[in-house]
Amino acid sequence: MRTVIENGTLFDTESLSFTGEAALVIEDGLIIDIVPKAPAADLKIDARGQYVMPGFIDAHIHLRLATMDFRKLSQWSEVEFGLHMARLATETLQRGFTTVRDLGGDVEGIIRAIRSGVLEGPRITRAGRMISQTGGHGDAEGGARPVPDCACQMRHTAFGIVADGVDAVRKAARHNLRDGSDFLKIHVSGGVATPSDPLDCTQYTADEIAAVVAEARNRRTYVAAHAYTPEAIALAVEEGVHSIEHGNLIDRAAAEAMTRKGAVMVPTLATYEAMFEFGAALGLPAVNREKNKAVYDAGLASLEIARAAGVTLGFGTDLIGETQSRQNREFAIRAEVEPARDILRALYQVNAKLCRLEGKVGTLKPGAFGDVVIARQNPLENIHALAEPETALSHVLKGGKPVARPAAET
Ligand SMILES: [Zn+2]
Repeated sequence: MRTVIENGTLFDTESLSFTGEAALVIEDGLIIDIVPKAPAADLKIDARGQYVMPGFIDAHIHLRLATMDFRKLSQWSEVEFGLHMARLATETLQRGFTTVRDLGGDVEGIIRAIRSGVLEGPRITRAGRMISQTGGHGDAEGGARPVPDCACQMRHTAFGIVADGVDAVRKAARHNLRDGSDFLKIHVSGGVATPSDPLDCTQYTADEIAAVVAEARNRRTYVAAHAYTPEAIALAVEEGVHSIEHGNLIDRAAAEAMTRKGAVMVPTLATYEAMFEFGAALGLPAVNREKNKAVYDAGLASLEIARAAGVTLGFGTDLIGETQSRQNREFAIRAEVEPARDILRALYQVNAKLCRLEGKVGTLKPGAFGDVVIARQNPLENIHALAEPETALSHVLKGGKPVARPAAET
């Protein structure tokens, strides 16, 4: 099947500029050519006066965290998880995100359902089960109820693996890599949504982090780390962690350490805004809302600190459950401190590498997947518009096939 998008102005992600009108030719799911005049096709889309770009990439999502009411997460059956995750996957694609990087939780079934064609959803690169220490950000148990530990120092939870000590984290890493993880995810500082870890605690020791990094490198991949504080960020990158997720409380020294090590930071500001606005109504406990306020307030400043130190930035959202509808807000939030070109560099260039799909996504070059969004306005002039995908985008295509989308409200 051949799809041609004609008369549109095409975006070049290398120069981060629109290179003029041309026809984009997609055949059997792949971009095969960019030509001045449209050839014959099974499907022609007229993009006159519009802006043709690669499908968006979100470098930090969680399909498994399908509701903000965490009590449900421990009660749901696999069928309920499947139905909720399927809806999130389809809506993500409808918002223009044709590729996502899932930062934790088992999503193998959803990936297979999308590949088989039974479900419409984005391409997914995944961390598999997030690896956390006992009482860390991946450990949602604890409190009044005693948690049984197993002799191997490894415990599977709904979203991850709780593992303590070098041998156990090695085993957790190997479990994930065996089960298809494209990269690994660890937690090295406190987090917002868990009950027992203050934000400013450091999680895992240097030798535990180094063991996970060694396992990742042995499989020719990398480690992503959830981290807020400067201490945790500096420790992680020193031990070879490649991507720092969130980074909200970063300081200049930690940012410089990241630049020196060539690490990437993936800010996820949309989630703090959403939790701030809707957390209480959606059942997020007060202790977690307190923690959220602290990282929300630091969010934009962390971007400025990272940018000033020359840290490479990706583009993520980290939205939980019901708030995933706010995914495109990230464009508008980032635009408060970043020029549009820098946001698009993060969205396409940096994110394609983080997904380990460079040349296949985030570009309109021949050989890439035919994943395309068509914007009504020039995003270099008005990137804020992308925060409202229903009105901003006239089309979303994955593999050359148009994605059915709900009509915009008028
Ligand atoms: Zn996350």
